[in-house]
Amino acid sequence: MGRLSYQDKDSTDALGQTDPEIAAIIEKELLRQQSRLELIASENIASRAVLQVQGSILTNKYAEGYPKARYYGGCEYVDAAEELACRRAMALFGAEHANVQPHAGAPANLAVYVALLKPGDSILGMDLAHGGHLTHGAPASITGRYYRAYSYGVDRASGLIDLDQVRSLALKVRPRLIIAGASAYPRHIDFSAFAGIAHETGAFFMVDMAHVAGLIAAGLHPNPVPLAHVVTSTTHKTLRGPRGGFILCRREYAAAIDKAVFPGLQGGPLMHVIAAKAVAFKEAQTPEFIAYQKKVLENAAVLAQILMDYGYHVVTGGTDTHMILLDLRSRGITGLEAERLLDQVGITANKNAIPFDPQNRRVTSGLRLGTPVVTSRGMGPQEMELIGRLIHETLESRHYPGNLERVKKQVSQLCSDFPIY
Ligand SMILES: *Cc1c(COP(=O)(O)O)cnc(C)c1O
Repeated sequence: MGRLSYQDKDSTDALGQTDPEIAAIIEKELLRQQSRLELIASENIASRAVLQVQGSILTNKYAEGYPKARYYGGCEYVDAAEELACRRAMALFGAEHANVQPHAGAPANLAVYVALLKPGDSILGMDLAHGGHLTHGAPASITGRYYRAYSYGVDRASGLIDLDQVRSLALKVRPRLIIAGASAYPRHIDFSAFAGIAHETGAFFMVDMAHVAGLIAAGLHPNPVPLAHVVTSTTHKTLRGPRGGFILCRREYAAAIDKAVFPGLQGGPLMHVIAAKAVAFKEAQTPEFIAYQKKVLENAAVLAQILMDYGYHVVTGGTDTHMILLDLRSRGITGLEAERLLDQVGITANKNAIPFDPQNRRVTSGLRLGTPVVTSRGMGPQEMELIGRLIHETLESRHYPGNLERVKKQVSQLCSDFPIY
């Protein structure tokens, strides 16, 4: 990189010398990521290019405002980065407008509410307890306090979103905004049915595609952009970019959305992250990325099938996405116990409420699994079969510590066979 290089061989030493404590923590975290099987559905492994940009000197720049309309001088280069990020996001998802400034998924959602609603307006989103997200109106979130929040759920027998309930609730409460999108729902959502209900009831329609954005970018999941007034997302889940958020919308809402993000909610944009988002959007246009997302889906299908073969109840009977939700009730184990046992053998997953969960939120009856990280590591169907067996053996051998030791060795071997970088 020449004379102005800031990221050279010494850069790791710079941290080591300035702050050995943080350097040691990062070293340990790298080892943890390297040596454990990550099955948390919302995580992924960003590319080296993304990491490089996110750790770049772009962090030094203040750029309140938007390209060519900033409140600071010297923005010509960060302007180019933000314009590139917007153009790429629009091309990738077929959107008329993109705002790439939201610091994460939650503020992206809040920005949409600020743009389209007044405090006290009603919103209709998926129940957190049925797989929705906090920011879709849960009482613990500001979105459930500043707006009158109503929620729909899934059908008890099928586990699928109850569209009749969505419609009857929408007709009854006449929400100003209907939200589709979830954090723990393994199936395609019928965006067009939602759009129809929103149209019928005069509501805005927003889709939060945080979990499935990577699949959508690859053309492997229905794209909500043509059907929704606004679409929000994260960049760090299946999309495999830096930690962040973005908003896509129709041209007519562009000004309101931009104003809501800045100056409505945020101050200066994180230009190093925005440039890294641009890199991720570029990566997402490649054939390699599409091949990756195909494998994510294939791996999830194989893992779901093997677990069903072992007798596990998979909510909705399978998956259309990168995500699997296990209902552990028939196995006599709670989500919390399962999470802890898996942790002991080096498998990281999260306990998760299942719809109509009899256990409380801190215990739960479910386990959420996802394949984005293991697929980024290069694992395929064979490894998924092994992982399914290891999960089964772990949950079965809670009373036999010797067995856990054996599983742990196999997890460790698998991880060293598939390095994260
Ligand atoms: C993860 C997620 C978010 C929030 O994203 P953060 O970056 O953690 O703020 C919002 N909506 C859905 C559906 C999510 O899954």
